[in-house]
Amino acid sequence: MKCKYCDQIFVENADTVLNYFNHVQINHYDTLTDDDKIMHDIRDKMIKSKKEFEILKKKIGDSDLIFNQKYLDV
Ligand SMILES: [Zn+2]
Repeated sequence: MKCKYCDQIFVENADTVLNYFNHVQINHYDTLTDDDKIMHDIRDKMIKSKKEFEILKKKIGDSDLIFNQKYLDV
């Protein structure tokens, strides 16, 4: 994918979204519109909570997580 704000190209892989996000954060954050800043901040929170989730998953293990998920569905 190509950066929305400059000509930088990002190779498509598992980290594309994160790489692009970091690129915008470093290079374009000051030039974002208010709406884009809000979106960026929301994405920032989502990425952080996803990271916390991954860490949590490692800590408690997948089986416990599946169990908890089932418990929540009931
Ligand atoms: Zn850019």
